[in-house]
Amino acid sequence: MTAAESSVPGLPAFLKGAAKRLLVGGGWVEAAQGRTLSTVNPADGETLTELAAGSATDIDTAVAAARAAFEGPWSRWKPFARQRAIIRLAELVEQNYDELSMLDTLEMGVPWSRWRHSGRAVALLHWYAAQAVTMHGETIPNSAPGALLSWTLREPVGVVGAITPWNGPISAAIWKIGPVLATGCTVVLKPSEESSLSALRLGELCLEAGIPDGVVNIVTGTGPEAGAALAAHPDVDKITFTGSFETGQDIVRASARNMKRLTLELGGKSPNIVFADADLDAAIAGSAMAVFANTGQVCYAATRLFVEQSVYDKVVQGVADFAANLRIGPGIKPDTEMGPLVSQRQLDRVLGYIAIGEQEGAHVATGGGRLTTAGCERGYFVEPTVLTNVNNSSRIAQEEIFGPVVVAMPFTELSEVARLANATRFGLASAVWTNDIGRAHTLAGMIRAGTVWLNTYRMMDPAVPFGGYKHSGYGRESGSEQMAEYLQTKTVWLNTDKHER
Ligand code: NAD
Repeated sequence: MTAAESSVPGLPAFLKGAAKRLLVGGGWVEAAQGRTLSTVNPADGETLTELAAGSATDIDTAVAAARAAFEGPWSRWKPFARQRAIIRLAELVEQNYDELSMLDTLEMGVPWSRWRHSGRAVALLHWYAAQAVTMHGETIPNSAPGALLSWTLREPVGVVGAITPWNGPISAAIWKIGPVLATGCTVVLKPSEESSLSALRLGELCLEAGIPDGVVNIVTGTGPEAGAALAAHPDVDKITFTGSFETGQDIVRASARNMKRLTLELGGKSPNIVFADADLDAAIAGSAMAVFANTGQVCYAATRLFVEQSVYDKVVQGVADFAANLRIGPGIKPDTEMGPLVSQRQLDRVLGYIAIGEQEGAHVATGGGRLTTAGCERGYFVEPTVLTNVNNSSRIAQEEIFGPVVVAMPFTELSEVARLANATRFGLASAVWTNDIGRAHTLAGMIRAGTVWLNTYRMMDPAVPFGGYKHSGYGRESGSEQMAEYLQTKTVWLNTDKHER
């Protein structure tokens, strides 16, 4: 029995036994070269299990299976049949959500007591099920000479390559697989090498739900090897990628070879603006959770806190107190509010950025170090950190840290804070806290970001588009805009008149 097995109550049965395999063409197979990679519990540094390390050969086989499935009986499934399959999958995900969420907790540290109650994955699937029967083309009046009808058909884009990050594994996988199933595409999913287990379990549930062999294929492995092979593959029609800006650039280059369609959900450095007239208690709690939830490993985390000068000290102190009172520990402990970072690499990165901040002249209002209290000694825990005396052009205010670190800066004028908020290469999300509806509305128009939350943060819904401006990527997830990215529009013209007029 491994250390992980002895220390974890209710260890999912899925974790026990042999190394995990690849899902290709409806069967579970070893990686072609027989290689594996370890997946680690970030709460104690122990190996959880081994994953198959897929290579370009495995990607070739999986893409061929996805292509065959796309051209097979799946292409003739009626919308209602696809809808029923997605609903069956939603029900299976709901029944198995304790296990799926526990796999995420064990692999990337997120507090299980909260994660298991997030209904997001199931809600997403039900929404995609509804989309399966509501997407359609249009009949369009035209002014061409003669008696001509014109209409559009919405057709699946084909074989999709989906590449996901480690920070929200099960939702990320469903965000990619759901639209594939709704539109009649097929997919090869390459989950993050740091959190692949819930995606693999989801693959089992897809088979149990009756989704045909080869429609959903899952190849685990590293980014530079399996991910890069998928992004460059000539028989993949579309890549949907969630991850860092730098990898996003690699994907754009690799996908140029056959002009793949792309959806890119990349990083952020989101501004969170608090005015003196806001409900400050709500703004403080909202601002703190906006950056410390999931240990700051969230693309839309509110990492730049702008506070109106007159309430700056009060708000910054409030956020610092909130941080200092967070219960930090392994994600499997029922009272844990903030878990570890995902890996030693991520811990080094976050601590490195805090050190850079101090070199740049920032003051540590709270946190600032590694956490090694009882129960956290061997894990990748870092204190939630608030930095003040920060310049918006400094590295810690401009670069994505991807940890529980917020930089606080005062402002006095609306135009000044709008300029500061936009002075970033990213444009994923933002928030404004104020009771002045006119001001909220004005700033919502001025901020260049895909989402503006007013007097709230972190709200997401399957029907509401989410995505970025600028270096935060392009395309949208959720909402009808996401569905459009998995569909081709075909125009049909019909001459209804044999006689020229
Ligand atoms: P990452 O870019 O390192 O890795 C993401 C995925 O890409 C992984 O599966 C990885 O194996 C793969 N990959 C790595 N190199 C590759 C290559 N050359 N070709 C193809 N695939 C490759 O990102 P990460 O560290 O896993 O995740 C953190 C990043 O993801 C942050 O920048 C975060 O903001 C972003 N993110 C964005 C969103 C969003 O919706 N905008 C959501 C979550 C995370």
